[in-house]
This record gives sequence, structure tokens and C-alpha cells, in this order.
Amino acid sequence: MGQTITYGADDKLIVPDQPTIPVIPGDGIGPDLWNATRTVVEAAVTKAYGGKRAVAWLEIFAGEGAFAKVGEYLPKASLDAIRQYRVAIKGPLSTPVGKGFRSVNVQLRHELDLYACVRPVRHIPGVPSPVLAPEKVDMVIFRENTEDVYAGIEWEAGSAEAAEVMALVRKLTGKTLRPDSGIGIKPISKTGSQRLVRRAIRHAVAHKLPTVTLVHKGNIMKYTEAAFRQWGYELAATEFGDVAVTEDEVFAKHGGKIPAGRVMIKDRIADSMFQQVLLRPDEYHVLAMPNLNGDYMSDALAAQVGGLGMAPGANIGDGYALFEATHGTAPKYTGMDKSNPGSLILSAAMMLDYLGWMEAAELVRNGIQNAVGAKVVTYDLARQMPGAAEVSCSGFGQAIIERM
Ligand code: NAP
Repeated sequence: MGQTITYGADDKLIVPDQPTIPVIPGDGIGPDLWNATRTVVEAAVTKAYGGKRAVAWLEIFAGEGAFAKVGEYLPKASLDAIRQYRVAIKGPLSTPVGKGFRSVNVQLRHELDLYACVRPVRHIPGVPSPVLAPEKVDMVIFRENTEDVYAGIEWEAGSAEAAEVMALVRKLTGKTLRPDSGIGIKPISKTGSQRLVRRAIRHAVAHKLPTVTLVHKGNIMKYTEAAFRQWGYELAATEFGDVAVTEDEVFAKHGGKIPAGRVMIKDRIADSMFQQVLLRPDEYHVLAMPNLNGDYMSDALAAQVGGLGMAPGANIGDGYALFEATHGTAPKYTGMDKSNPGSLILSAAMMLDYLGWMEAAELVRNGIQNAVGAKVVTYDLARQMPGAAEVSCSGFGQAIIERM
């Protein structure tokens, strides 16, 4: 029987030695990935703490699995379990394509106000990459998860609502939109921007990383994207004045060198940032981004280090965190014990870090690095790595455990 994680002051979790952690294995390949992940995490925790600590998994349902059982894609009981236990992990969930269906992933983020999508991007030596020096990429993206295009405020072309909004736009701006336009609204708030940037700067401070970059399209969108940048700088000055220094200050007052112990806050326009991550990736460490730019950047950077199959992720709010594989359900491989569990396993390592169980997290990451280094990998990597020994999904889990 597990114990409950509680949430204390200063965004601190109080984690017992046997925490209950809800798990959504997910749809499609999710259950295979989860089986491998579970064995790896349990082996790492046992090896690190010799039985003093252990996770009590609580399996809950969402997605197709839940629909088949109780006729709902996101049952209230599953949501309540995550609310109660605070930290959870999930495999991929399928999103049926159809009118009016709201993705369960998006619902979970919305219901729990998981406002920061956190994606560490780092190359594992040996993983095939399309760029020449993937080892230069070592960044963490903090992407705003609740506003911007994820706010979901849209009206169909030709609808009465679209006509009403057009009339309002005409009244407020004097501009006439084409009558056959669909209309979407892009809200970006000071509150939403600053809580995201706060998490990004806290991460840089805690991990002694030298820079945080605010990425935006503020040259075109003054009151949303440029405001995100402005509010980010303001927050850095007011809440992190003792550790943060702006790029302008670094050049004006410190001869272009970041003073010891400081985090440099800089900003880049989103299109230029896509060039920067290819041309000078080692100059960037933490990126804070509004939703849509962050969405593109997360997948582009994942591709740079070898693809989504190995990219971990988390959705984090105040007092709640949901760790997840970043790829989909790959339905054609369902039940074949074939797919790469790397993304879910590395997400579980992020979760162990978040619990403060860093020793176990390191063992997991070492195990993956050593298995890939020994070229013992699943089909997706094996087909790109000459001389690799292809193993199944569960076989990859075992290979990791043997090499922790
Ligand atoms: P997908 O499930 O990510 O799969 C596309 C292809 O990516 C697979 O056929 C496979 O390529 C490769 N792939 C994905 N995961 C892999 C893994 N763990 N190991 C090895 N290869 C992997 O994308 P999709 O087909 O577009 O989406 C399927 C369903 O997933 C949809 O219902 C979608 O809504 C959902 N989805 C869920 C999430 C989420 O829960 N976070 C995210 C994205 C999509 P090869 O065939 O070339 O081997």
C-alpha cells in the first residue's frame, strides 16, 4: 500500500519512501512500452536504494482502454487519482479523428492546469542523427501549455459567430476580413507567460545552467509575442534580480562574459531561433516559449538528436506533474512487443528526478546510454545502425537493466 505525495511551500513536493504513482499505460503500443518501463524503473530504484524506497503503481485508465471499460475517454476516477497523488505517468493515447472530440491529452493538461510542457533534448551517443554534431544539443524547452493556439477559441468560416467577430473586428480596427474566413483567437497573458518563465529560470538556477532564452515572434505580434518577451524580462528582474543578468548587461558591463553564478536572460525571434539550434546549439541551454513556437521547436529539436522515439516529456503545473512519452500510439505495432520504449523510460527518469530520486534517475539514463552504446536496440534504431543487435521492446528494457 503506497503513501501520498504532498505539496508544500515554495513549490516543493514532500515525497514519502513508498509513493503511490498513478499510471495510464495508454493505447496501441502503450502497454508494451509501460511493461518495459516499469521493470527498468523498479530495477533502478531497488539498485539505488536497496528496498528502502519503492513506487506503488496505481493503474488507471484513459483513452480507448477507458472507453471500452466505462464508456468514457477520461473517467472522473482517473482524474481524481492524479489530483490525489499529484505525480503520474502515461503512455500515448489515441485521439479519434472526428468533429468535436477533444484530445484526452489536452483535457488532462487543461483539467490539472499543467501549464509547462517540459522537454529536455540531449543526444545519446550512438543514436543516429541527421546532423553532424548532435552532441552539441543539450537544451530544455519550457513551452507554455494552456494559452496561444491551445486556448481552442475558433469559429468556422461562414458561421454566425465568425460573422459576429468580424463585425466586432471591423468596429474596433476598421479592418474588413474576407467573409469566408475561419477565425481563431490567440490569447497570451502576463500571468500565463510569467509562471512559465518562472519555471524556466528556476530550472536554470537549480541546474546551474548559464542561459535562458525567451523565444517569440514579437517583431510581428506586439501584444502577444512581444508581450511574452517583455513580461519574461520583467519577471527576471523583479523575482530573480540576484541571479539573472540580461544579455545587454553582459555585453555593456561584463565584457561579454556571464558573471560567475549568474543566469543570462536573452531573447531570440522564433524564425532565427530555428537557425540557431542548427548552427550554434551549444549557446543555448533553457528555452522559454509560447505554445505554438514551442510545439514546432520541441519536435524539430527532437529530430536533431534522433527523433521522437527517444524524446522524453512532462507536463507540469503547480503541485501536479504528468510524465509522458512524446510520440503517438503507433497502432500497427500494437501487442507486438516491438516498439522503442526509450521515450517513456526517459520520461520516467525525469519523474524520478522530480521526486528527488536522482540516483535512480541516473541509473536509468546510464543503462539506456550503455545499451545504445553496445548497439543493443529496438528495430527503429537498429535499421539505422550498422552492426546493431535488434531486440524487442521488453528485450531493450532487459538490456538497460543489465547495463545500469
Ligand atoms: P505515432 O503513433 O507517433 O507513430 C508514427 C510512426 O512513428 C510509427 O509508425 C513508427 O514509425 C514511429 N514510432 C512512434 N513511436 C515509436 C516508438 N515508440 N518506437 C518506434 N517507432 C515509433 O504517430 P501517428 O501514427 O500520427 O499517431 C497515432 C495515434 O497516436 C493517433 O491517434 C494520435 O492522435 C496519437 N498521438 C498521441 C500522442 C500522445 O498521446 N502524446 C502524441 C502523438 C500522437 P515506423 O512505422 O516507421 O516504424
